[in-house]
Amino acid sequence: MAQTMISVAHAHEMIDAAVAAAGVTARERVGFRDAIGRVLAADVTAPFSLPRFTNSAMDGFAVRAADIANAPVRLSVSGIVRAGEAAATPVAPGEAVQIMTGAPLPSGADTVVPVEQTSGYGGDTVEVRTSIPADRNVRHAGEEVEAGATVIAAGTRVGPAELGVIASLGFAEVDVFARPRIAIFGTGDELREPGTPLGDGEIYNSNLWVLSDLAQRAGADVVEARIVRDDADALRDFLAAALACDVVVSSGGVSMGEHDLVRGALSSLGVEERFWKVAQKPAKPLAFGVRDATLVFGLPGNPVSSAIAFLEYVHDALIRLQGGAPTPPERARLAAPFPCDPGKHRFLFGAFDATGAVRPSTRLGSHMLSAGLGADALIGVPPGAEPLPVGALVEVRRLRWGGLGT
Ligand code: AMP
Ligand code: MG
Repeated sequence: MAQTMISVAHAHEMIDAAVAAAGVTARERVGFRDAIGRVLAADVTAPFSLPRFTNSAMDGFAVRAADIANAPVRLSVSGIVRAGEAAATPVAPGEAVQIMTGAPLPSGADTVVPVEQTSGYGGDTVEVRTSIPADRNVRHAGEEVEAGATVIAAGTRVGPAELGVIASLGFAEVDVFARPRIAIFGTGDELREPGTPLGDGEIYNSNLWVLSDLAQRAGADVVEARIVRDDADALRDFLAAALACDVVVSSGGVSMGEHDLVRGALSSLGVEERFWKVAQKPAKPLAFGVRDATLVFGLPGNPVSSAIAFLEYVHDALIRLQGGAPTPPERARLAAPFPCDPGKHRFLFGAFDATGAVRPSTRLGSHMLSAGLGADALIGVPPGAEPLPVGALVEVRRLRWGGLGT
């Protein structure tokens, strides 16, 4: 068991190596509506062009541009075509066809006069008041996507836009990677569930619910989330089953306390510890191990520590396991000074301001989960003796609570 404190970068390297060795989850085919939040296992290629047929962008009249070059001019109306109908009869010289948005452009016509630029339509004839060139208000077949083109690449996480494009191409099913199965547990005899009374010294469990939500947002299937007693047998029983998952995440019980039994229970079940303790604040006693293809993260129990460690390490591992590409941290300027730690990578929740600068939370304690309220950034700053001044560039993970990037 490696027990020296390692750097954040080294922790990432070891986790990435273990994730790569575990490999991506199996592929599965799902109904397109169930693809939301999932990572595509195959490219989505267009079975037909978009638009599929040339059609009108406006309600108006399909005409020949040459016929209206000397507008105002009166044309005879030879028919009507509505969205959903087959193209009307061709437009002959001197003729117009009334057309609705989305209706196929009749042959012969090369432009659409919006209804607002016409007058006197009585059923047989219409007056076009202004001349417009060819190709106005016309949406050409294939101008958006050509048949056979790759529209969405494998590895893309499906969001609302992807779902809409998949539907518009008519796919009833798509191939995705299976959701990584994750078991989450907390330890601590002090923990009670909301809705039950608290005895002396007891507190409510919040971590499991934060971690479960974060895991789901990262695309994981949370198969178990529960508190296990600070008891070696209870832990072993729970873990023996939980280790069948792709990922096991614990909160609490990895520091130096007398009841910090998690690492021992893991090792007795054959989990090979890859590291314990990272030079970071919060979440210094982070533990990481592997058994076969199962990744095990032992997060410290303080609420900010477990949330931040999940966001910094577990989130991207879950994205990679399901074939996705995590969004790398970005750089932003500080809107307020950042309190560095001389020997540890310092993480704080933060919030972007309107100028794109990021303001670190002033709630510094790892027990202060309210630091996460309103946060849309996780700021990480390497060890440093002095606080960083306003305007300094820092690394930031943008927290989109719909999932961190992909
Ligand atoms: P531990 O890592 O077990 O020493 O826990 C560190 C701190 O986090 C202690 O104050 C615990 O009471 C608290 N804690 C542990 N688990 C949870 C949890 N699930 N919800 C809220 N607080 C917790
Ligand atoms: Mg504890």
